[in-house]
Amino acid sequence: MNSWYTDVILPIPLAHTFTYELTSDQATLLKPGFRVAVPFGKNKIYTGLVYKVHRKMPVRYEAKPIDQVLDDGPVVTGEQLKHWEWIADYYMCSLGEVFRAAIPPALLLESETLVVRNDSFDGDESTLKDEDWLVYEALQYQSVLKVHEVASIIDRKHVLPVLKRLISQGVIKVQEEVFEQYKPKLVRYVKLKEAYNSDEALQALLETLHRAHKQKKVVLTLFQLLAGAEEQVALKTLEEKSGVSPSVVKSLLDKGILEDYYLKEDRIGFDGGTTESSKQLNPYQEQALEEIKDHFRSKDVVLLHGVTASGKTEVYVKLIEDALQRNEQVLYLLPEIALTTQLISRLRMYFGEQVAVYHSRYNANERVEVWQHILDAGEKAQVVLGARSAMLLPFSRLGLIIVDEEHESSFKQFDPAPRYHARDAAIVLGMMHGAKVLLGSATPALESYYNAKTGKYGLVEITRRHGNVLMPDIELVDIKEKHRKKRMKGHFSDRLLEEIEACLEEQGQVILFQNRRGFAPILECQTCGHSPQCPNCDVSLTFHRYKNQLRCHYCGYHIAMQHSCMACGSSEVDTKGFGTEQIEEELRALFPQVKTGRMDSDTTRGKHGHEKIINKFEEREIDILVGTQMVTKGLDFANVRLVGVLQADSLLNYPDFRAHERTYQLLQQVAGRAGRSKERGKVIIQTFDPLHQVLQQASMNRYEDMVSDQLNERRQFRYPPFYRLIKIVFRGRDYNRVNEAGEWFSRALRSGFKGSSVEVLGPEFPPVARIRNQYHKHLIVKIPLSGNLRASKTMLKKIGKSYEAIANFRNVRLIFNVDNY
Ligand code: ADP
Ligand code: ZN
Ligand code: ZN
Repeated sequence: MNSWYTDVILPIPLAHTFTYELTSDQATLLKPGFRVAVPFGKNKIYTGLVYKVHRKMPVRYEAKPIDQVLDDGPVVTGEQLKHWEWIADYYMCSLGEVFRAAIPPALLLESETLVVRNDSFDGDESTLKDEDWLVYEALQYQSVLKVHEVASIIDRKHVLPVLKRLISQGVIKVQEEVFEQYKPKLVRYVKLKEAYNSDEALQALLETLHRAHKQKKVVLTLFQLLAGAEEQVALKTLEEKSGVSPSVVKSLLDKGILEDYYLKEDRIGFDGGTTESSKQLNPYQEQALEEIKDHFRSKDVVLLHGVTASGKTEVYVKLIEDALQRNEQVLYLLPEIALTTQLISRLRMYFGEQVAVYHSRYNANERVEVWQHILDAGEKAQVVLGARSAMLLPFSRLGLIIVDEEHESSFKQFDPAPRYHARDAAIVLGMMHGAKVLLGSATPALESYYNAKTGKYGLVEITRRHGNVLMPDIELVDIKEKHRKKRMKGHFSDRLLEEIEACLEEQGQVILFQNRRGFAPILECQTCGHSPQCPNCDVSLTFHRYKNQLRCHYCGYHIAMQHSCMACGSSEVDTKGFGTEQIEEELRALFPQVKTGRMDSDTTRGKHGHEKIINKFEEREIDILVGTQMVTKGLDFANVRLVGVLQADSLLNYPDFRAHERTYQLLQQVAGRAGRSKERGKVIIQTFDPLHQVLQQASMNRYEDMVSDQLNERRQFRYPPFYRLIKIVFRGRDYNRVNEAGEWFSRALRSGFKGSSVEVLGPEFPPVARIRNQYHKHLIVKIPLSGNLRASKTMLKKIGKSYEAIANFRNVRLIFNVDNY
């Protein structure tokens, strides 16, 4: 009789699934989506995912049995697997890589090495070295030791040599054990002991407590709570409500009057249901909503192009209400950085506990809980708010997907694989579920707008801000001229300073944007021109004054600030360029009485770092907020009247075919933070090139003009949306090998694509060619929309296979990045 087998997806970059043997019991139980622990390689145990159950014996290797079944039901759905297959295929990566990206780490069991004694050891223990003997002895009393326990027994950190010696002498064995990391959080509850449940018993109890006022109060409070809405009373609640110290409750527990018990609690639970009903839409929003619904009758995807503060979120809310009415799940995707408590609490106001948040900054256990709720399709996770990886969750009744700020480049995963674009993959997800997809932005990506204009997507526009507030007045200030006329104080023009003063006078708040963090990007010797470089990357170190350090923004390398040149010893070193830190410092000198704050990746570390600064700004504990891109993302502050951009030029000069589009988007977004509620906002953009086309367009809100200019260029120079780009990256420590690898691949590609419409660019070293001591070299493949994408990818994979067989290139990683952003 034939045996049963299962193909298992392992969370590793190998392209295939792996086949294991099953007992017939396992074969009846297991279905696609179950997790199993399986042996792999030497002494390794992995958590794998059942992909298929079948009876076909593998031909190339002998199937091992699985170690353990980890679930009693699938944790991944069939629809999910289908979507993951699409991602792996389209973005040219393995199913295992998608699996790893999708599943909360706590569900990917950890494998930890255990040391056990080898019972068949028959050597002479007295010949063992001292350290070895200590381990041997410990194992006579304990059957297993973890590696870190061994370390403390022999009091040294590096135990592997010792273990290796013990293994080779047959004293110990090493065993891998898989254990479950996820532990639901337990909450301690209290109740009255059974014996006091009758009225008489309770009366008698209160009598005996008549001298112990506080204890009596606790018992009475417990009674009140149970008579009210509560079914269970948590220990903590009881302490709070009766206003006594924990010791009072403890003595009641000790006396056996109260008893305690534990219940599972959701970590991300919050108390309170909905507190408000959704807002009455204004006529523009109302019309947009009707148009969206109308498009949805014939189209699966609609783009909502609504200017900043037009009230897009309120329109989404109405659509979410409709979906919930139909008992459908809703996925609301946002760029990570825009996923703030501002928005979360706004949605929770309307939808209460039905909103779940899925966020990489949440810890492992919290993520498992959200996963489970969505899998159960329960009440709790009807609306899932999350960053890009939220679209990999186990939805089963998905009806609506909203991709807010759809133009954001952070929707594209950069490293590691799967290098997917969450907006695009969400559209595919929508198709698989028959769900509608709404893309929203004040400055849509060129690709999306083009798709809308050509009729592939529905297009709906809102051109007015809510409350008919005018769009902000944007003024370009020529700082070249200001410098010449000596009208600059530090990095501030007289115009910007006048506006800041006026704004503060009227009790308004100010946002200042500068694209770099730190104090100054470059430290330069005035004598020999040397500037300190990162030893691991091809970049200059950035000066951070607060820490008095020079830091690398790519790898984190840092050294103390140097006051003399490291090359020639001259003490004439000077800084060039400026970052947020320097702006904040200048501000303090210019406006000593004003409260300033800074929001960049240096000040927002940790789970709530971002929120804290936002809250402070909302509470008006900060008058002027200086920040990087972070201050531009979807924030809604009623009191900001002025936005200043200290220098727009560095954005325009970025070496990327999207630089102009991005500059437009960024300036419009940051400008959009001004004057959102009542009065018209003011925006000052400082630049060396005020006549630049894109700056002109951004200052006059001429989105359409920007789009048509950029589309012309893209068509002419063969870029998206007219061509698809696949970037091929070669990465390794050896410069020459990386170089050769790029050349070899480029020759193979050129001959492979000869005579076709596919174009190959490069190989080229990017501007920062070395990061963390790894060299990078790029090739770009351009495939016309009319070209055959599938055939091109097949060709790439085929060449990739030959490449991987070349011994010389073994240490040069080959990476495909499809639709590179
Ligand atoms: P957008 O997402 O388009 O930038 P928001 O949805 O954040 O705009 O709306 C901007 C501000 O206007 C928010 O403070 C929001 O509460 C308010 N707002 C929008 N629509 C309405 C409405 N119909 N009634 C009352 N307030 C609204
Ligand atoms: Zn020097
Ligand atoms: Zn570095």
